[in-house]
Amino acid sequence: MPVRIAVGMVVTVVCVAVAGRRFHWISRLVRSGQAAPERLRRDLGRKAEAEVTEVAGQRKLLKWTVPGLAHFFTMWGFMILLFTIVEAYGDLFQPGFHFPGIGTSPVLGFIEDFFATAVLVALGVFTVIRLKNAPSRKERASRFYGSHTDAAWLTLLFIFGVIASLLLYRGAQVDTKPSQFPYGDWAFASHVIGAGLAGLGHGVDGTLATTFLLLNVAIISGFLVFVSYSKHLHIFVAPFNVAFSRRPRALGGLDKTPDMDMENVTEDTVFGAGFIENFTWKQMLDFVTCTECGRCQSVCPAWNTGKPLSPKLVVMALRDNMFSQSSRLLARKAAPAAAAGQDGSPDGRAQGGGHGEVATAEAEALVPGVIEPDVLWACTTCGSCVEQCPVDIEHVDAIVDMRRYQVLMESSFPHEAGLMLRNVESQGDPWGLGSSKRTEWTQALEFEVPVVGDMIPDDIEYLYWVGCAGALDERARRQVQATARLLHRAGVRFAILGPKESCTGDPARRIGNEYLYQEQAKANIATLAAAGVKKIVATCPHCFNTLKNEYPALGGSYEVVHHAELLDHLVRAGKIVPGAGYTGTVTYHDPCYLGRHNRVFDEPRTVIDAIPGARNVEMRRCRERGFCCGAGGARMWMEESIGTRVNVDRTLEALGTGADVVSTACPYCMIMLDDAVRANGKEESVRVLDIAQLVEESMHLPEPAGPGRGAATWTGTTQPAEG
Ligand code: SF4
Ligand code: SF4
Repeated sequence: MPVRIAVGMVVTVVCVAVAGRRFHWISRLVRSGQAAPERLRRDLGRKAEAEVTEVAGQRKLLKWTVPGLAHFFTMWGFMILLFTIVEAYGDLFQPGFHFPGIGTSPVLGFIEDFFATAVLVALGVFTVIRLKNAPSRKERASRFYGSHTDAAWLTLLFIFGVIASLLLYRGAQVDTKPSQFPYGDWAFASHVIGAGLAGLGHGVDGTLATTFLLLNVAIISGFLVFVSYSKHLHIFVAPFNVAFSRRPRALGGLDKTPDMDMENVTEDTVFGAGFIENFTWKQMLDFVTCTECGRCQSVCPAWNTGKPLSPKLVVMALRDNMFSQSSRLLARKAAPAAAAGQDGSPDGRAQGGGHGEVATAEAEALVPGVIEPDVLWACTTCGSCVEQCPVDIEHVDAIVDMRRYQVLMESSFPHEAGLMLRNVESQGDPWGLGSSKRTEWTQALEFEVPVVGDMIPDDIEYLYWVGCAGALDERARRQVQATARLLHRAGVRFAILGPKESCTGDPARRIGNEYLYQEQAKANIATLAAAGVKKIVATCPHCFNTLKNEYPALGGSYEVVHHAELLDHLVRAGKIVPGAGYTGTVTYHDPCYLGRHNRVFDEPRTVIDAIPGARNVEMRRCRERGFCCGAGGARMWMEESIGTRVNVDRTLEALGTGADVVSTACPYCMIMLDDAVRANGKEESVRVLDIAQLVEESMHLPEPAGPGRGAATWTGTTQPAEG
């Protein structure tokens, strides 16, 4: 056997064996996670679409144009260069090997050389990006802060080695064996290298051709091993992670709705994730798929305001913990009955049985230690991380899972949020003001608002879900009143639940109190079912999201719209005609649960654009990249003592546009932004208004002169009086 074949094959077999063993180990580790049967549903159409758009099309990566294009060409370069890998191995055995049929096509030679060159250019771009964003230069402002940057440089070196050795052995072949180089002049890069090597003479170039061929095979084999042990594992696992991800995205409702029926609870029941084994296999696949690119970190409102939470570092910490706990995880899988940790309170090492697995790791609680409490509770569940992640990692669900464990299993959460939870439980609203005040906002209206007493009659189109803030907070009430007046003027028939409306449970769910959330949800679903409600318009995006995306899992399905969508529809239909009463500059703040979580981006902007005197200026961070106000994820009821305040950061950006109105469509955003405008001493020159208030102002609608008609309790047997 020729030496080159022996050397090439020994290196290859050893590297494939090492990498294969590692891939098998990772596969077993991931499969040791909890079941997630819904992720295995066939749903082939959606999976295929995800592969085409996210993996092949690099949709998310291309949102960042320069690094996106560089990654696009690198990824496709390697797909195309699979041809060259086969050709290299073929050349080992048979000099001048080429694919039957297409192997001598000049077009194939051109495409291979084009992508080889494109990858080299992309490597240059990556190098510049990494140097410009080096953590040593930018500290926390670098998206690579906390990533394994040495491994990233090594990766670039490996890729450079693959391409350089490829072009060098092809160039040497051009010079020494032109008859065996099958592509003619079209393989332009190989010919350029060949011209450069020509001066060395055929003898040297013949040796170089063999040397670089072997080097190419060795670097490719070594890269395979390196990838299997590094963050570049994503090359192989990302397509699986994307295929099994929630479609169209892991935003909107939370993924899991655990069975909280206490009759089904046993001593082995675990709520949420307190130990790494409590995560599902899909979540474990998330952890090993992270590329450490830091896109999520760069958009996280918590990280950007100096908090210790970085979604990237959370995922990396969970992955590291998964690896360090591997012996225990695999032992549990091999002998689940003997394993510790099933009841969520592991007391030692799992003893494997029958599969030779012996745990050598002690069970380690995730919080604190792996994830510090200040990290866990800093999340606003804004979804920016999920939106940006190019490999579809689902951070929000993992964070809420860990919160659930802390709240439900450990009774551990920020003490100041306890009051909110007690108020929701006892009074049905976070402020504890009680149901009797839920119709007070209607007193300022000049017409009666029907309150559903029994069944909602057929001629009422919408139940208006007012929300706790809209009903009880003075500033948010003005949003709700403006919306109600506009709907009334447009002839939309709506009614409210009044005292029968109760908190949807959103803040309880986001903080991790799934039990309280489900109690609230079930009670509301029963109320809505008794009233025969089918269509709901909501002002609060958190209520909107919960009613629309989360109640169906508990049996409550409705057609739910947000008031921004309904106003948009009414403006387009000519039933609301904005007037000249407002002239000025508006900047619109996207509420996370309306925009990113539910893709309502255009409608509020259409409404603002319909106001003749309003000029809308966008903030830099808008639409999908909109920056949180800081209130979501139950953060509204937690202290914010680390770093700068999220609402202040956002408001400074809004003030920077020079707008005289900061507009939004969420009561929480309204309160947070208004607080920050006041904190900046700008309340005289800048107003924070809901889009409904802005439209109303433009229409010169008269303010009510005195006490209005208020709410009319309505049994549904008579028509409410028109105001
Ligand atoms: S949801 Fe928002 S706050 Fe939470 S980790 Fe992701 S980006 Fe950060
Ligand atoms: S979680 Fe996603 S966005 Fe964040 S660093 Fe990992 S791959 Fe990048």
